[in-house]
Amino acid sequence: TDVILEVDNLHVSFTTHGGEVKAVRGVSFTLRKGETLAIVGESGCGKSVTARSMTRLLPEHSSKISQGSIRYKGRELTKLSEKQLRELRGSEISMIFQDAMTALNPTISIGEQIMEGIIRHQKLSRAEARKQAAEMLGLVGISNPEMRLKQYLHEFSGGMRQRIMIAIAAVCKPSVLIADEPTTALDVTIQAQIIELFKMLQKKTGVSIIIITHDLGVVANMADRVNVMYAGKVVEAGTVDELFHNPQHPYTKGLLASMPRLDTDKSLPLTPIAGTPPDFAPPEGCAFAARCRYAMEVCGAYQPEQTAVSSSHSAACWLQDPRAQLVFQPPIKRN
Ligand code: SF4
Ligand code: MG
Repeated sequence: TDVILEVDNLHVSFTTHGGEVKAVRGVSFTLRKGETLAIVGESGCGKSVTARSMTRLLPEHSSKISQGSIRYKGRELTKLSEKQLRELRGSEISMIFQDAMTALNPTISIGEQIMEGIIRHQKLSRAEARKQAAEMLGLVGISNPEMRLKQYLHEFSGGMRQRIMIAIAAVCKPSVLIADEPTTALDVTIQAQIIELFKMLQKKTGVSIIIITHDLGVVANMADRVNVMYAGKVVEAGTVDELFHNPQHPYTKGLLASMPRLDTDKSLPLTPIAGTPPDFAPPEGCAFAARCRYAMEVCGAYQPEQTAVSSSHSAACWLQDPRAQLVFQPPIKRN
């Protein structure tokens, strides 16, 4: 099998002053070798928490994986010690964040920061590590890499900093790259260049990529498959083609409707879905019900389950589930 990462029924919760927040509530997905999976949704939907759970980059005392499993190449990650996780991070699964200025150290040369992982994971000499770091910097499109290694973050533009973060994440040849909103802070031209860089790296190394984004344009340009998340759950999953051309979940349809058309003026105002996601997911029923124009009685009473649309496409919505008609009332009329 070419499945490299398998997440099954993952639950992650946080302890806050207001009580327990269930940020991720039963997320399952697989990632195959060499593919790109996008996780999309509004802020607070649990997409970043899901991503950070893979290498447990979560606040140690206030968060916990309360249920579920994460298997990487057959190995259970939820049971690993902090020491084992440190060996895994960077060498097997690497994270790339939105903001290089907070993710990287501005007081250490970027050469040292790229070499650190190489020396730690591959036990190479400094000279060999420096050579690999320069090669990597060249690969991500930074010219004159030997000279650039000696420089500091503030000497690079926003797009270049993002390239440096990708170089640090990819230098030990991990099998999985997880990128959390890696292009959000960049302008459209630079964003397109970074997406091309990810595709080139994937082609060259066969790395699998999980991209976390709220931007469906990024999804369309780089993903093979998509998980749409809402209030801590995956509400629809499918290939990019299935999600864009045959969306089933009302939330996915709303996201697509709010996406600026590529062939029209990008500055047109978006048509956002009315309402906001719940802070605390409702204990019963569909979390999207309060915003859904198709909501039926069953939706408020029971959580919808994943229903297959095709072998690669599923949605968690009562509209998809034939059992809804058997027991419950017709849709509530709304204007
Ligand atoms: Fe709307 Fe009901 Fe589907 Fe939820 S389950 S998205 S409320 S139709
Ligand atoms: Mg986020």
